[in-house]
Amino acid sequence: FATPATNSNFSVHPEIATRTPPYGKLTKNLTEVRRVLGTQGLTLAEKILYSHLDNVEDALGGRNGKIRGEAYLKLKVDRVAMQDASAQMALLQFMTCGLGGTAVPASIHCDHMIVGEKGADVDLPKSIESNKEVFNFLESAAKKFGIQFWAPGSGIIHQIVLENYAAPGLMMLGTDSHTPNGGGLGAIAIGVGGADAVDALVDAPWELRAPKILGVRLEGELSGWATPKDVILNLAGQLTVRGGTGYIIEYYGPGVQTLSCTGMATICNMGAEVGATTSLFPFTPKMTSYLNSTRRAPIAEAAEEANKSHNFLRADTNAAYDQVITINLSELEPHINGPFTPDLSTPLSKFKDVVKENEWPEQLSAGLIGSCTNSSYQDMLRAEDLVKQAAAAGLKPRVDFFVTPGSEQIRATLERDETLDVFEKAGGTVLANACGPCIGQWKRSDISKGDTNAILTSYNRNFRARNDGNSQTMNFLASPEIVTAMIYSGDMSFNPITDTLPTPSGQPFQFSAPSGSELPSQGFELGNLALFPSDSTPSPSTPVVVSPTSSRLALLEPFEPFGSTDLKGLKVLLKVKGKCTTDHISAAGSWLKYKGHLENISNNTLIGAMNAETGEVNKAYDANGDAFSVPDLARRWKAQGLSWLVVAENNYGEGSAREHAALQPRYLGGKIILAKSFARIHETNLKKQGVVPLTFASEADYNLIGSCDSVDTVGLYDMLVNRGDGEVFLDVTKKEDGSRHRIPVKHTFSKDQAGFVLAGSALNLLSKKAAT
Ligand code: SF4
Repeated sequence: FATPATNSNFSVHPEIATRTPPYGKLTKNLTEVRRVLGTQGLTLAEKILYSHLDNVEDALGGRNGKIRGEAYLKLKVDRVAMQDASAQMALLQFMTCGLGGTAVPASIHCDHMIVGEKGADVDLPKSIESNKEVFNFLESAAKKFGIQFWAPGSGIIHQIVLENYAAPGLMMLGTDSHTPNGGGLGAIAIGVGGADAVDALVDAPWELRAPKILGVRLEGELSGWATPKDVILNLAGQLTVRGGTGYIIEYYGPGVQTLSCTGMATICNMGAEVGATTSLFPFTPKMTSYLNSTRRAPIAEAAEEANKSHNFLRADTNAAYDQVITINLSELEPHINGPFTPDLSTPLSKFKDVVKENEWPEQLSAGLIGSCTNSSYQDMLRAEDLVKQAAAAGLKPRVDFFVTPGSEQIRATLERDETLDVFEKAGGTVLANACGPCIGQWKRSDISKGDTNAILTSYNRNFRARNDGNSQTMNFLASPEIVTAMIYSGDMSFNPITDTLPTPSGQPFQFSAPSGSELPSQGFELGNLALFPSDSTPSPSTPVVVSPTSSRLALLEPFEPFGSTDLKGLKVLLKVKGKCTTDHISAAGSWLKYKGHLENISNNTLIGAMNAETGEVNKAYDANGDAFSVPDLARRWKAQGLSWLVVAENNYGEGSAREHAALQPRYLGGKIILAKSFARIHETNLKKQGVVPLTFASEADYNLIGSCDSVDTVGLYDMLVNRGDGEVFLDVTKKEDGSRHRIPVKHTFSKDQAGFVLAGSALNLLSKKAAT
């Protein structure tokens, strides 16, 4: 894939026309939206969402203002992006529809399956070799269907999207939960499962319940050590991992104008950590600078025109938010969040005490900067400034230091400007332009599995085992600046703003606040042109090979339809205690290699979930007391013709937009997930794959149901047939004594979603419609 090529910058992007949002059509729709809604002020999120409606009058008309949180929007999106791990299943699903090409422009990004260990030069070729079959499949499918293919080494999906595809007013879907990164450029960019992406790829409207809008008013201006990352680390602490559920987070206020475009992208990226549908910023001059700098000046001009003529790219002055949070950037201090959850937020000045109170490790074992969240030119230059300060004082990092550039463009620019050289001279390891340690692809030799240790990263997510597969690695999230300064102490109690470090000269050293330009004065380098995609004309004769004996890829068989009665005799496979993210339901790391093979990847189903009755992880018990791993018991029941359900607590399925977390339970015979609450993307993914997500009407009823209890549904079939209308109950027969009781449950089915479950899956329905 990565053959050397000469670099040549060009002043305007050659595909500029296909990358400009259809402002004419969108502003015309916006006029129609205003006609239907009258004088009501609109938030920016509403303007962009509603201008992408398939039918404005149908969606918004006659609702007496009751839209947010209630109406179902059928949206025509402008673009789709897919990362390599999720693209496999998305393409396998798309292929079952029998179309010759995609209805909207789309791109595939090879980033998740690349290991971080020794450095890009060694890791990249090795990862390409070990994933050759999958990369070949993706590349050939991309060619056949006219999808732009970004080869391994080209960069991380969200950074490439920001550099190339995101634009003010655009609406796009991405098969990855950090797709909202594009909100830094004023786009509505939403993370979805592959089945949702297929909706857009086949030109079916994509459905979303109209989100509520959470306004975050930014005042003041960042200074010193405070960074955009601290805005979202602080907000995550305020909102918690569930606080953004059902909301779009829209930033406004005078502070917005002071932020760099890439800084705004960092903030939007991590909106995923509070469960928000997406996050976005209004169009600012910093966005124009970034578009100009990334060779898209005509898009900036078109956006300015749409804004001037229709006030399209900012909220109306009389717009109303459902909730408002104010953050004063001038008073914000750096934060460190973690471990194990991104909302455990501690201001830097208190971190020392909190480390002691919690008896967290006193020593750091590694610092990692970069990833899709924080590898902008500005991030890296500010980190470089700190490394130079330390080097001038004769200091070297005291723990391992890894740098992950977000894209080839960033890497090549940092190489030209000698930033990477500064990191390497300090002993840092520059990893491939890929996800690597952010997604469990970090091969460590400094610790063994089970060793308790602490790492600091500038990434976005810190669930257990997320980085190195070791559940005892405590991952703390911070800005790249704080991570970089802390590695020179290696001590978790070090506060780089106030504390000093001893130096070889005997003089104590204290860091000055970091500085660094937002954008490169000489423009961005493109780097290795072989990593950039060619045109996107479909090539129907391209063979797409899936070997029947492959362990990595397998063609899909349709799931069976729901049937014509309520469900009887389901058994509770597992009652889950506490956090159950999509990482717990379908682990990443070494399992990523089976993403295109449903049978094989199903062996990781729920292996991270904790059994509420025994406290064990990946242990489930059959009615006779025999112990199994969770996937083994599911397979055993499937072989016996038994269908099952899982019982869980709050925010079930938070984290990555991983549709395997819905596909695998479905494949193994799961029919219902009964939880206290769901994360949005996962709840939709379940419905799309024909699994029924239900919530307890009263959370206390969680205590009334246990493993191996038998469950009949009451009213479920009627509710589905009535397209989402009607009450549903579960009749539970206790395994201990055969006693029976009825649990009332709630659901959020739309008309379309009820149809998915009845047909067996959304894809079954889509294929049926395509055939008629
Ligand atoms: Fe990759 Fe991590 Fe970003 Fe996900 S969050 S796209 S795994 S770098």
